[in-house]
Formats: sequence, C-alpha cells, structure tokens
Amino acid sequence: MTGPEARSPGTNWAGTYRYRAETLHRPSSLEQLQDVVAGAASVHVLGSRHSFNAIADATELISLEALHSEEALPAGVVVDHDARTVSFGAGLKYGELVERLGDEGVALHNLASLPHISVAGAVATATHGSGVRNGNLATAVAAVQLVTSGGELLQFSRGDADFDGVVVGLGALGAVTRLTLDVEPAFEVRQRVFEGLSFEALCEHFDEIVASGYSVSVFTRWEDAIDQVWVKSRADEPDLVDDDLFGATPATVDRHVIRGLDPTPCTPQLGRPGPWSDRLPHFRMGFTPSAGEELQSEYLLARTHAVEAIEALRSLAEKIRPWLLVCEIRTVAADRLWMSMNHGQDSVAFHFTWKPDQEAVEAVLEDVEGALARFGPRPHWGKVFLEGAADLAPRYERHADFVGLAERLDPRGAFRNEWLDARVLGRR
Ligand SMILES: Cc1cc2nc3c(=O)[nH]c(=O)nc-3n(C[C@H](O)[C@H](O)[C@H](O)COP(=O)(O)OP(=O)(O)OC[C@H]3O[C@@H](n4cnc5c(N)ncnc54)[C@H](O)[C@@H]3O)c2cc1C
Repeated sequence: MTGPEARSPGTNWAGTYRYRAETLHRPSSLEQLQDVVAGAASVHVLGSRHSFNAIADATELISLEALHSEEALPAGVVVDHDARTVSFGAGLKYGELVERLGDEGVALHNLASLPHISVAGAVATATHGSGVRNGNLATAVAAVQLVTSGGELLQFSRGDADFDGVVVGLGALGAVTRLTLDVEPAFEVRQRVFEGLSFEALCEHFDEIVASGYSVSVFTRWEDAIDQVWVKSRADEPDLVDDDLFGATPATVDRHVIRGLDPTPCTPQLGRPGPWSDRLPHFRMGFTPSAGEELQSEYLLARTHAVEAIEALRSLAEKIRPWLLVCEIRTVAADRLWMSMNHGQDSVAFHFTWKPDQEAVEAVLEDVEGALARFGPRPHWGKVFLEGAADLAPRYERHADFVGLAERLDPRGAFRNEWLDARVLGRR
C-alpha cells in the first residue's frame, strides 16, 4: 500500500493514547515521502508507537515501514567494515537490524531493553541504553538523513554544525529517512540476576553496584528490599562480581523483571554467555515485553545525586506502591546531544512501570516530581510526566539552540504539535 491508509492510526503500543491523526501515510519511495511531507500542514513520523504520550501525534502521520522494505531500498542495510558503521532505512526496528548485523559479525555498543522498538524512534527521543560507561542509543549515531517540511533531503554527519542538535530531534525537525550508526566487532555477554539486596547496601555501595557490569539494572517495588539486580557483563572483560553482590546472591532460575511473571519473554540469564543481541535487551523479540498493560514514567538526573534521590523516593513508597508494577534504576553516561536527558552529565534514571490508570499515575507524579525537583530531573521524552517547557528549558543548556534549529529546519511549523509546544519548544 502506498497511499494513505483508510483507517486512522489507532493507538500507541500500550493502548493508553489514541492518536488524533486521521490519516496514516505509508510512502514506499523517498519521492512519495517528500511529497507527503511538503503537502501536509501538520505531520509526524510514527515509529513503533512505544511512547506513552502525544509526542508523535499530528493531523497526518507517516509510517516508514514500506520505505525500508527490500523492494524500496535494495541495499537497505549497509555495513561499512572499514568505517565501522552501518546505515539503513529509518523505519527499521532494533530486532530487525541486529539480525543483519549478526550476519556481518558486528555489534552496536548497546541495545534497547526491548528489540521491538524502531531505531529512529529511540534515537529521536534519546532513549534506552544503560551502563556507567555507555551513552544512550542515540550516541551511536554517526549520520542522519532527513526530509524537511519543505521536502528537501538533508544529510548531517558527526562533526557538522548542528549535528548534536539534529540527532535527538524529538520528531520536531523533519522525517528521518536514513541513519548511520557506529559498530564494533560482535561480542558475547553474560547475564546474571541477583536477589536479596538491601536498600542500605544499595545506598552504601551504589557506585560499585552500578559499575559491577557493562550494564546494570536495579528493580524494586519500594518494599523492604530490592527485588532484583540484573548484571550484564561482557564476556571479553573480567567478571567484576562473584556470587556475592553486597549481600545479594545469584538467582538459580530465570526471572522476569516483574517478580512473579513468567520469565519466558525475558532474555537468557544464569551467567550463560551468548551473543550481545540476546543478552543486552531484557526482553526477547516475538514475546510481549514488560507487562503489556501499563504506563511508564522515567526521570534522569546527575548520578552524583543517586543516593539522595533513592532516599527521597523511598519516603514516597506508600504513595507509589499501589500504582506501581516495578521501578528500574539504571545509569547512562554523559553525552553531547542537545536534547538528550544525559546531556553533559553522567546520569541515574528512575524508570516507573505503572498500572494503566492515567489519572492515578498523574496524581502520584505530582509527588514524585516534587520529591525530585531539587535534583533538576529531566523526564524521559517518551513517557508520562507533568512539567512543561518553561520548567524544562533551564535544564537543557542548548535548549534555545534547539528551538532555533527547529525554526530554521521547519519554518512553517509542520512538525510542531501541541505536545512539543507545551513540553519542549514553548508556544510561538
Ligand atoms: C514496553 C516498553 C518498555 C520500554 N522500556 C524503555 C526502557 O527500558 N528505556 C527507555 O529509555 N525507554 C523505554 N521505553 C520507551 C520507548 O521505548 C521510547 O519512548 C521509544 O524508544 C520511542 O520509540 P518509538 O519508535 O516507539 O517512537 P514513537 O513513540 O513512535 O515516536 C517517538 C518520537 O520519535 C519520532 N520519530 C520516530 N521515528 C521518526 C523518524 N523516522 N523521523 C523523525 N521522527 C521520528 C516521532 O515523531 C515522535 O516524536 C519503553 C516503552 C515500552 C512500550
């Protein structure tokens, strides 16, 4: 199908947000895409719909799924072994990309917690990718090709003026058609889950715990003890943790990140080494990730405040718990990308998976945002939060540059939407 779909785009992945758009275009050539974009008064590209808010909405939406098909672009995925890069059509999902990378013996530095999401959507929102030494997934971007609202095709490469602003475009700059990412030789990863960590040990040894693997996630429901610590270690690096992680011990069976759920959808654990692409995500392709029926929020702040922030959230445990499925605490390395939540600071992230009750969750977020306010938290762009552009602008030192970039690349404001105006760009 090349033209507009008869039906409306429907809802986001979780079913918690219904897009207001009346049309979903599925262009199958670059020229068609350029025509759609240039002719639309209000337009956005839809990724894999995994955001929990209206960031992706517009009067007309575009799916790039037909654009990256082998027919439309015969050389869709191109690995350049000399340059150590891969380039591909921007509609691809991580799960699809890693299959092609596997054939070529190369890897990305990190992966999303679920392979189901589109690469362009994760990059546009600076999301996913954890580890004290690891930048988020957008930091792997070496080049971006995009169609502006004037229908012009532009290319930005690392080192170009504005490149650090273009990568995390929040969908506000244009339709990204092609991405180039850094790759490295494929590597193996071991994943172990530790149980029985106390909050006291977490706070006392926070820096050692989050640095005990290549990527470490702490899962808690803000009860008396921590539920689980997932430690993903590279097999080509020495193991930094034995069978005792500050009092926590390794699980002897596979676990789901939400305690009590069937672990089948989760990636293999128990310390068995395996390909990077089968261990860095928490969830396996082909299964429903996470809970399925849920909302999410996440706040990122300077890692130096991690323990104080844990204590602040712990004081809200009674309010949080009734609506919480699980909370993940992870870390992300600093980067230079203007609108990245990790811009200029090594970060700790507090990710809440909530029961799907928008009103109740927003009421709890009043308390959560109040408790974290003194740490200058940057909310995850793809999740539920309350603060607006005026609150958030001072937390991004390149905010004014980003607003200027959006106005230059999209002078007629076709890629602005209500959500972006309210939460990021400010009203014109
Ligand atoms: C079950 C689940 C688990 C999750 N876990 C995590 C997690 O562990 N860590 C984390 O950080 N996040 C997590 N998220 C959040 C989610 O993965 C991100 O919000 C997601 O990466 C957005 O990607 P998407 O493709 O779904 O984008 P969408 O929601 O479809 O769109 C997001 C934005 O990207 C823009 N966009 C998408 N493609 C293009 C393009 N080609 N050109 C221009 N703009 C584009 C859209 O216009 C929109 O502005 C999770 C979400 C779910 C549902």
